[in-house]
Amino acid sequence: MAVNYKSVPMREQLPDIRRKNFDEVPLGYSEEEAVEEAQRCLQCPKAPCISGCPVNINIKGFIKHIQNREFKEAVNVIYESDTLPCVTGRVCPQEDQCQAKCVVGVKGEAVSIGRLERYVADRDLEQRANDTKSIEINENLKAAVIGSGPAGIACAADLAKAGIKVTVFEGFHKLGGVLVYGIPEFRLPKRIVETEIETLKKLGVEFIKDTLIGRALTIDNLFEKGYKGIFIASGAGLPKFMGIPGENANGVYSANEYLTRVNLMKAYKFPEYETPVLKGKSIAVIGGGNVAMDAARTAIRLGSEKVYLIYRRTEAEMPARLEEVHHAKEEGLIFKMLTNPVSYSVDDKSFVKKIECISMELGEPDSSGRRRPVPVNGSNFEIDIDVAIVAVGTTPNPLIAKTTPDLKIGKYGEIPVDENNMTNKPGVFAGGDIVTGAATVITAMGAGRNAAASMIRYFSDIEQ
Ligand SMILES: Cc1cc2nc3c(=O)[nH]c(=O)nc-3n(C[C@H](O)[C@H](O)[C@H](O)COP(=O)(O)OP(=O)(O)OC[C@H]3O[C@@H](n4cnc5c(N)ncnc54)[C@H](O)[C@@H]3O)c2cc1C
Repeated sequence: MAVNYKSVPMREQLPDIRRKNFDEVPLGYSEEEAVEEAQRCLQCPKAPCISGCPVNINIKGFIKHIQNREFKEAVNVIYESDTLPCVTGRVCPQEDQCQAKCVVGVKGEAVSIGRLERYVADRDLEQRANDTKSIEINENLKAAVIGSGPAGIACAADLAKAGIKVTVFEGFHKLGGVLVYGIPEFRLPKRIVETEIETLKKLGVEFIKDTLIGRALTIDNLFEKGYKGIFIASGAGLPKFMGIPGENANGVYSANEYLTRVNLMKAYKFPEYETPVLKGKSIAVIGGGNVAMDAARTAIRLGSEKVYLIYRRTEAEMPARLEEVHHAKEEGLIFKMLTNPVSYSVDDKSFVKKIECISMELGEPDSSGRRRPVPVNGSNFEIDIDVAIVAVGTTPNPLIAKTTPDLKIGKYGEIPVDENNMTNKPGVFAGGDIVTGAATVITAMGAGRNAAASMIRYFSDIEQ
């Protein structure tokens, strides 16, 4: 059989149009396109793609079903390992994971595993929205989940399917974690996350919003209320800053605040919605990951004339997904690579006016294996800006740690767990970014599922 080394492209909104709207950029495959792309899969006996997936989805198996136009069977294969394929099909860094191991990719373009996953998952989403399957719940066996991001959703789903009464506590007024307050609509439509939450509600999961555990209630209060197991999935939402002069000026945002204002509080519709955001004519976004890319592409959509991406290494070292980098370039983002901010200067009302930067060059590899960026003496220069968005990482929020004195906490505020996602405190499990630090949707989702399986075993032990 002749190998087809060229993948079927996915239709997209054109850059000039999408710069002015928040609608999703890639438009998805048609049935014919999906089947054609699936035919490129060689069904390799060893299927190395599976080992590239953090949750080992049976990729070869689901693609075989697409080749046979068995779409329901295909998505059911994915559900065995992945609770949120509509999401992971869109946001996983496939080029570093499953697709990096694709045999077709050695000589040509890898099979578009993520796009195929998205295709079958999207087909199924509509049907699931109308599903009314219910499960018998044991009201005496109560579990609490803290946080409604991918780790919390995945854990709650598996617990509910096992007949356990689950309550999810969420600090925000909207459910979905980073999937709703961080990742913008143009990459992940909110209706997908809403449907996932609705599915959980139909399974009997209760959601309590606007409730910060550690403030409204503590972990020990939850045990007193009769919850027998608790899963902490509170993420890593506390932004880091660089600690450089002028960083507290007006107009300098953390990416989390900026994206939360726009995505969750709909600041782009101010004053119809109450939350404002500074739009700025010239914006500097600092960082090279997905968060930086999302902030920069959001700023472009809010009408900024110049949006600079300031990153201290080169494009090759940027952790952002390749597709986002490609889309951002098409949308006009100005890449300032090998550049690091040194300070901000302000006007007489303390609004940011300029960012001073220094050029960098790459030295020896550091502990991450990437070449260390080193400042080039005397290369300082300034860029006129009126908004800066800092996207240089996040850490866990310390609230739960501070109010749970007997819970062991790591040196970065993370919660250490064993292979069962169990913490040192009996009955308390944790998973997702709160354990790993800022990571990916699929690893958080996988941790939620592992914790649910462990909690089910734990419940059966304490019941006996
Ligand atoms: C802008 C952005 C873009 C990203 N892009 C990608 C991408 O393209 N691909 C990818 O794989 N990953 C991406 N990530 C990372 C990914 O979204 C996270 O790794 C993932 O969401 C972590 O899931 P989680 O469930 O652990 O935490 P979160 O999604 O952070 O959810 C935690 C939830 O807990 C709530 N919470 C926190 N504390 C409390 C408390 N005390 N009480 C009650 N509720 C609480 C929070 O409000 C939040 O809703 C991105 C992250 C960001 C910020």
